[in-house]
Amino acid sequence: MDNQQMAIPSGSVSLSTPPAAQHKYEFFKVVQGYLDEAARVIELPEYIKTILSQPKNEIIINFPVKMDDGSVRLFKGYRVQHNNLLGPYKGGIRYHEGVTLDDVKALAAMMTWKCALMNLPLGGGKGGVKFDPNGVSRQELQRITRRFFHSLGNNIGPDTDIPAPDVGTDAKAMAWAVDTYMNTVGSLFRQSVKGVVTGKPVAIGGTLGREKATGQGLVYCIQEWAEERDFPLGGATLIVQGFGNVGSFTALILSKLGASTVAVGDHTGYLYNPEGFNPHKLQDYVKKNRSIAGYPGGKPISREEFFKLKADIFIPAALENQIGVEEAKNLQVKMIAEGANGPCSPEGEQILIDRGIDILPDVLANAGGVTVSYYEWVQNKRSESWSLEEVDTRLEKAMKRAYREVVEMSRQRKCSMRIGAYAVALQRIAAAYGEREIFP
Ligand code: GLU
Repeated sequence: MDNQQMAIPSGSVSLSTPPAAQHKYEFFKVVQGYLDEAARVIELPEYIKTILSQPKNEIIINFPVKMDDGSVRLFKGYRVQHNNLLGPYKGGIRYHEGVTLDDVKALAAMMTWKCALMNLPLGGGKGGVKFDPNGVSRQELQRITRRFFHSLGNNIGPDTDIPAPDVGTDAKAMAWAVDTYMNTVGSLFRQSVKGVVTGKPVAIGGTLGREKATGQGLVYCIQEWAEERDFPLGGATLIVQGFGNVGSFTALILSKLGASTVAVGDHTGYLYNPEGFNPHKLQDYVKKNRSIAGYPGGKPISREEFFKLKADIFIPAALENQIGVEEAKNLQVKMIAEGANGPCSPEGEQILIDRGIDILPDVLANAGGVTVSYYEWVQNKRSESWSLEEVDTRLEKAMKRAYREVVEMSRQRKCSMRIGAYAVALQRIAAAYGEREIFP
């Protein structure tokens, strides 16, 4: 998932202390567990699993930034490059006070599966800087971004590693990033390195349709799910956790199909409106106020009440590890489409599966973001700009094809959709290793 507009600060969609996270949540181990299971299911050669069990590179940079009051603050930044067999490392940069190396490793690995599942010529990577983007001024944010990207130096590049927005970053941050990078290469090459980051503003080489891409991709998956079951989306109800880029665009696009958002939540609390929220108004409000707090159109409810609400669809679009055992027991929905990366804990997921609640897993459901990032990168390489219609048509085909491949795999191998998604991705990676083998 990602947050594309400066005005929708995704730091504000994070739920910092979920009850599900009482103990330390080892996100990388969780993702490893899925890798092990999927490897078993498709009998992945052991040596490939060994290679994929750790990232290729883990970069940690401590960099100084001058703050508005003249003091110097040291920031810790990460870039984890998980795998580049299928193409350059690809994945977002997260700004959040809770960023750890373990999380970034997990998220980087997930990018490898996501890109392989979507059949993109890209590998997986992820980065992050540990700080609260809402706790600094806009000028400080610019200096932090420029200094971090400058420090990354040649570790990134349009054909080596291509960052993008994620939680806490947006198109504006990518504009600072690309400008910084362009200024570090010789003037002869400036124009040819535009593709060093994706998710840029349209005015400087971003693509139409990238801002809403993750939400749009989620909706294409939800439509496939609904079609398979003859489930009418017109009149359906949804609850949304996190109202940043992914949550808000998903609610907005689903509202055009007749579905209504009856409850929303973010790190400031939860709101309920049985009549349905106006997603346009709420999105505008969050852009201005950085959270849903104080929005006049809903009744405040507790986190517990939110998770007990009866609705058709739940869109977790905040952070990982939000749906633990308690939440999974309480949820009264038919389906969960994971806008966030890793919102369900493995224990939570098992309960949901036992209760017959469908889960459209993150590496499939939120892959629209990186897919349209790929379209942006291709347009940059070819000096083209595609129409919104062209971007959407391609995305729809790509998402629906991936959805069907995952369903097919999970039926054939009698596994969950999540393991099915990993399995499709791993088969593609295994085919490439099978051909290239190992050097030397
Ligand atoms: N951060 C997004 C994700 O988790 C998008 C990455 C990209 O566009 O490279 O998929």
